[in-house]
Parts: sequence; structure tokens; C-alpha cells
Amino acid sequence: MSATPDVGRLYVIPERSGTAFRLGAGQRLTVIDPKGSQVSDLLAYNADDLDEVISSGRTLDYAETIRLTTGHKLYSNRSKVMLEIVEDVVGLHDFLLTPCSYETFDHFYPDLPRHRGCFGNLAEALDPYGVTAAQIPVAFNCFMNVPVDAQTGKLSVLPPISKAGDFVTFQAHMNLIIGMTACSAPASNGGSFKPIHYRVE
Ligand SMILES: [Zn+2]
Repeated sequence: MSATPDVGRLYVIPERSGTAFRLGAGQRLTVIDPKGSQVSDLLAYNADDLDEVISSGRTLDYAETIRLTTGHKLYSNRSKVMLEIVEDVVGLHDFLLTPCSYETFDHFYPDLPRHRGCFGNLAEALDPYGVTAAQIPVAFNCFMNVPVDAQTGKLSVLPPISKAGDFVTFQAHMNLIIGMTACSAPASNGGSFKPIHYRVE
């Protein structure tokens, strides 16, 4: 774990794990899918006030779409811009579903070994920064493919369309604590678990 990532260095989040680090205002965070079809849950907290946190509801309201890509801003619960998507070669991410957890495995995969999932990985990674599990909201799920049926509203979780080396880049609009994972849920990642890479510039 690195509290403040070295600029330009490539970091690896091993499969089914998570990390947390500081991202300064103006810095850019690039999230890379090195092998393809792998989700990364991303959280952001105001580094100076942890009660300010990334908000799916605010963001979708202001964006007027669930298809967030280059040019869209990710808002906090206080309607401030936390991150802006400045480059996105995939164009398909999810901001509807909450991080996978032990309970997710009980619900969807009762026959598989339980895993604490992104929720447990984020809780552990963010704990040294003072973030509690109760402060974990819906994450911005990089590369997650969750189509919504236009007629019925039914959600599906399909394999990500991201290919090896695909990435999405965010610019920080305030000093942030970032939490990130390589997602642990079978359906979200096309049935296999891969690492996630990231870089700060
Ligand atoms: Zn997950």
C-alpha cells in the first residue's frame, strides 16, 4: 500500500483485493484493465472531511444519464465535483450497484465459497484513513457492464467489454482519499479474476 502514490509509477492491485491512497487536487488517476473484462470499484472521499463522499444519486441526477464517460463529472453528497472523467477508451461503466460483499455471495452464489468482496476489501484499505464500513456508498464501478432493459427496467450483469490495456482517466477536483479494488464477483468479471493497474500523474 502506498499512502501517496509515486507520480508516473504503475501500481498493481492483485486479483480479488483492494487498496487506498491519497490523490491531490489536479492530479490524474488512470485505472487500467491489464488483461481485459475486469471491474474495479472506485470510491472517493474528501481528504479534509470524510463525511463528504462520492454520490451515485447526485452524479446521475446532474448527468441525466447512467452512461458516464469522458466529460462527465462525479459529484459528492454535497454536490461538489470530486472527479472528472477526462479520457475513457471503454465508455461503459456502472454507477448503480453497490460493492460486492459476503452478503452478495450469499445472495447470488450460495454454492461458491464466501468472499468479503469489494466491500470488505475497501473497508480494510480505507480503515487506516479513518473511513468506516458504514461510510461506504455505491462505488463507481470502472468497466462494469450493467445494461438496463428499456421496457422492463430489468438489470443484468454482463462481462465487461474492456480489452487488455483499456483504461479510464479521472482528474481530481479536490484533495481525495481514493479506495479501489480488483472486483471479486464472478458475474461482474466474466467468470475469472484479474488484477487492476493504476497510475497517478
Ligand atoms: Zn466487486
